[in-house]
Amino acid sequence: MRAVVTGGCGFIGSHLVDKLAQLSHEIVVIDNFSSGSRRNIEGHLGKKYFNIVSADLKMWSSRWADSFREADVVFHFAANPEVRVSVVDPRVHFDENVLASFNVLEACRKFNVPLIVFASSSTVYGDANIIPTPENYVPLEPISVYGGAKLAVENFMITYSKLYGIRGLILRYANIIGPRSNHGVILDFINKLRRSPSRLEILGDGTQRKSYLHVYDAVDATLHLLKVFTGSSRCYDIYNVGNRDWIRVVEIADIVVKEMGLGKVEYVFKPMTVDGRGWPGDVKFMLLDITKLEATGWKPRWTSAEAVRKTVRQLLGKE
Ligand code: NAD
Repeated sequence: MRAVVTGGCGFIGSHLVDKLAQLSHEIVVIDNFSSGSRRNIEGHLGKKYFNIVSADLKMWSSRWADSFREADVVFHFAANPEVRVSVVDPRVHFDENVLASFNVLEACRKFNVPLIVFASSSTVYGDANIIPTPENYVPLEPISVYGGAKLAVENFMITYSKLYGIRGLILRYANIIGPRSNHGVILDFINKLRRSPSRLEILGDGTQRKSYLHVYDAVDATLHLLKVFTGSSRCYDIYNVGNRDWIRVVEIADIVVKEMGLGKVEYVFKPMTVDGRGWPGDVKFMLLDITKLEATGWKPRWTSAEAVRKTVRQLLGKE
């Protein structure tokens, strides 16, 4: 299989590249290094099966688009993943998450790419009132520009699948964690505790509860679902990719404190909105219903708490 991975130098994208390489696929990565790093894919540089194009998908150019020629699948993982940025600077997210994705779809159309896999997000559900939230939950009312952008791209994908026959696999990921992540709550806690080992500022009122999936599981589920989808006759499909359970932010703090070997730490909560969110646009309670994913025969290896512990240990270099 010839696979194009946009955002392949990023956190999830680079783990996907590792797995595709293990499975002997030919890989082209397109990345502008805005949040990704060459270090994440350095094991593949110079290898016969691997090519990298340094380009910005916001700007159409045959330099990157030509690499879609003869691609069997495009994994579209490039994005600006910072929900907080989307709230203070919506245009950045429109450009990086909508415009860039539209260009990717147009390149698929131009070069007759048969299939695209899109890294969507749990944020499309907004503050869902059914938890765990299934794929057919309505109304989809994202509360961040990031979530709105993901939903817009999902809609374009559905249209392109119906109008141009480009099959679309939409994966709504929960919080994905693991080595090489460069943002998120775990890294935030580790960095803060390194600076001040007896006091931890926790954004939000402390009631937030969310579901976490280790990146190894996320990549495994992605390739598993690609196989399932390829074998089906659907023009597009949507899956939640997450864990069966969720975990409170305070439990995450407890795990980080324990793994760092710290003594008593005072937790200081800092609600950033009147309803106690960690930041405007933050979904306080997120648990995806993964019945549809599990019905395909896939199960997560680690629970949310186990994935958090494993990630902390990996980020601290203990694993
Ligand atoms: P990341 O920031 O580590 O990776 C994104 C990659 O895209 C980076 O390498 C970045 O340099 C590249 N990129 C960004 N804009 C680009 C552009 N205009 N042109 C070319 N390359 C560009 O983020 P991640 O956490 O690995 O997320 C990967 C995908 O999964 C994103 O689409 C994100 O929205 C989605 N997602 C992530 C999570 C999560 O918890 N990490 C959850 C749900 C969905």
